[in-house]
Amino acid sequence: MLIVIPLILAAFAAMIIVLQRMPATPVLKYHHVNQNTPDAITISPELFEKQLSLLKKLGYRSVSPEEAFLQKKAPRRSVVLTFDDGFFDNYKFAFPLLKKHGFKATIFLTTSLIKDNIGGKVKRESFKDAILKGDFSEFLSWKQIKEMRDSGLVDFQPHTHFHRHRFKGPVVVSKVIDPEKLDFKTLSCFDPPAKKGAEVLESGASIVTRAYDPNTLRYETQKDYLQRIDGEIGASKKIIEKKLNKLCECLAWPWGLFNGAALKAARRLGFKLCMTTIYGSNHFMTSKFRIKRFTPSGDPEKFREEIVRNSFLLSSLLIDDRLYAAFSMRFIRRKLKEMEQNG
Ligand SMILES: [Zn+2]
Repeated sequence: MLIVIPLILAAFAAMIIVLQRMPATPVLKYHHVNQNTPDAITISPELFEKQLSLLKKLGYRSVSPEEAFLQKKAPRRSVVLTFDDGFFDNYKFAFPLLKKHGFKATIFLTTSLIKDNIGGKVKRESFKDAILKGDFSEFLSWKQIKEMRDSGLVDFQPHTHFHRHRFKGPVVVSKVIDPEKLDFKTLSCFDPPAKKGAEVLESGASIVTRAYDPNTLRYETQKDYLQRIDGEIGASKKIIEKKLNKLCECLAWPWGLFNGAALKAARRLGFKLCMTTIYGSNHFMTSKFRIKRFTPSGDPEKFREEIVRNSFLLSSLLIDDRLYAAFSMRFIRRKLKEMEQNG
């Protein structure tokens, strides 16, 4: 018995050492890059550049999602940069910085919001303006998309065709007082457009919701639901493939929400990778249909450690800070120093 305990401890220590050194790939998730007040989905161009410089200093190379997860061996110290929705500010602020520092990125487009116009606006109400005013100028135009694609640095993949909510049942939540004051999720449920006095029902993200129609008082059938999500996912794939003459195999779910039916549809339509908003990093056990991503910390100190922590399997699994401090923090800090010295 006395011999068994040290053996178990030794095996445990060996396992930690092995797992600690196994690589993982961090996928960074961005939305807006502009000079508005930073919020959960907005980063300033200055901070974005600081993050790119830090990645460079640590010796990271940017790879596409396909290179990271579909090719046999992704290089060590690689990072995937992704942008959701397809905002014009990605072109105005992020693209010049990607070019300057030689970083690749993938932008996931909501194809119903991408038009041929060339007017570029940077504001905050992108989705709302599109629904209320038919103003799509806060999103990328195909001209800008093609220019970015031609640089060889930016790739485009689907984020479904609509990025909207649907009414999901008869429960009345409130009444419309002023359509302009509604949030875009609620606005997007109305077809025809919301009018003063109309009932607002409970809603959910389109892809994961069996829609309820307040006019007929009926839910859509399972068959209609499946057909609709097939259309929403498939249309975005087809449009990008046709416009850019390429194959799209990587999908990002709106709000990161999906279910079994949506996953099945994505597979059937030929997708090989699906991006979620589940926090974490990706290693050899991660499903290609549940790629984890995270929004990088706005604090450069935290960002440095977060990136390195998410580049190793064990550390990326230790989401609880006490466990991380107990098993992995010292290893990551040592690695960070090494990487900074060697670049
Ligand atoms: Zn989105």
